[in-house]
Amino acid sequence: MDFELTETEQAFREEVRNFLEEHLPPKDQRGPGFLGSWLEKVRERGWVGFSWPAEFGGSDGGLIEQAILKEEMALAKAPPLGSSFMGLAWVGPGIMRYGTQEQKQRFIPDILDSKVIWCTGYSEPNHGSDLAAIQCKAVKTGDHYLVNGQKIWTSGAPWAQWIILLVRTQFDVEVKHQGITCLLVPMDSPGIEVRPIENMAGDRHFAEIFFTDVKVPIENRLGEEGDGWQVTVSALANERSSIGEVTQMFETLDRLKTLVKQTTRQGKPASEDPLVRRRLAVFETRIAAMKYNGLRYLTRQIKGEPLSSETSVNKLLRASLEIELADFAIELSGPAGLELRGSDHAVDGGSWAKSSLNWPNVVIGGGTPNIQRNIISERILGQPKD
Ligand SMILES: Cc1cc2nc3c(=O)[nH]c(=O)nc-3n(C[C@H](O)[C@H](O)[C@H](O)COP(=O)(O)OP(=O)(O)OC[C@H]3O[C@@H](n4cnc5c(N)ncnc54)[C@H](O)[C@@H]3O)c2cc1C
Repeated sequence: MDFELTETEQAFREEVRNFLEEHLPPKDQRGPGFLGSWLEKVRERGWVGFSWPAEFGGSDGGLIEQAILKEEMALAKAPPLGSSFMGLAWVGPGIMRYGTQEQKQRFIPDILDSKVIWCTGYSEPNHGSDLAAIQCKAVKTGDHYLVNGQKIWTSGAPWAQWIILLVRTQFDVEVKHQGITCLLVPMDSPGIEVRPIENMAGDRHFAEIFFTDVKVPIENRLGEEGDGWQVTVSALANERSSIGEVTQMFETLDRLKTLVKQTTRQGKPASEDPLVRRRLAVFETRIAAMKYNGLRYLTRQIKGEPLSSETSVNKLLRASLEIELADFAIELSGPAGLELRGSDHAVDGGSWAKSSLNWPNVVIGGGTPNIQRNIISERILGQPKD
């Protein structure tokens, strides 16, 4: 396999680097108006939805260039390319794959222009891993569905304007994956109540959502009635792929190496301790494995194959690495490593302590490690079903 970039791809990398040098100030110099002007500039440049069809406002760009773009943005610690992470990562791709022409024209430009924030309503109080067993109900009545039920752990729900919602439209089914339908619902619809939940890091980014007789027009259905599971499997593959992206892990590892250089162990620089060096080498090797595995997905996508179960591999690797990197940084730093931002003793602005508390984002969000292992075992390795 040839990992070298072509001249055109290399030139694109240079173009992105030059843009970043010119338009991305260091983090501490980004004022209040920075994000808005950043979003406008990257949009003007055609870098939001870079590989999406030009017909809907994308740039028809190549997948390798898109990967280069993401990599350079992550290395430069640039803000996201759009205001809706979920809109860009899986709602938009889902609409482009399963949506009607009218839905594509209606929803895609707003995602690209950062005019709308999406959230994802899959999990319910009793159905998270066992997602296909959802009970939130939608009944077709005239020209709309009437939705009743509850969702939970919906990230971004306190501020999102739209939700991609999974509901059950049929209860008498042979297998639970049937009878599920996907709806696109405005969050300000009458009958929706959002109750934010505070996580252990003190953030209130997810919520419970209650639906009482919420009217959703039939034209807001994504895909056919009863085919929502198919839409979800594809969206989940995109979600897991985005969680499993590797550049950020290299960046975290660099921060860890800097911490090692600044730390002493038993009177000697920690960087001279063979055990510390070994740990760093193992981390680096595992992250490199993620990188090459990610290139496999890219190769498949270039061949026109949609993302599928293989995205569970990097999702699983990232989940364990994220925890282990933060734990190791805290172990090196001693008690100060546990201090959060705001404390005089916080190490690296409390970022390791925060990562250590925020592990559910990458470990549980998008499906737990056990579920990823089940998927890898059954769908990739062909083992008997759980
Ligand atoms: C930070 C965060 C953000 C989230 N954001 C969203 C969101 O935006 N939208 C959304 O819909 N959901 C979201 N979720 C919910 C998430 O998808 C679920 O929490 C997750 O799928 C697990 O479901 P559960 O909480 O019901 O746990 P359960 O399914 O009850 O699992 C409990 C334990 O049992 C294990 N387990 C369950 N089934 C099996 C099995 N078959 N084999 C082996 N082990 C099993 C699990 O691995 C886990 O350890 C988020 C969660 C977190 C933590």
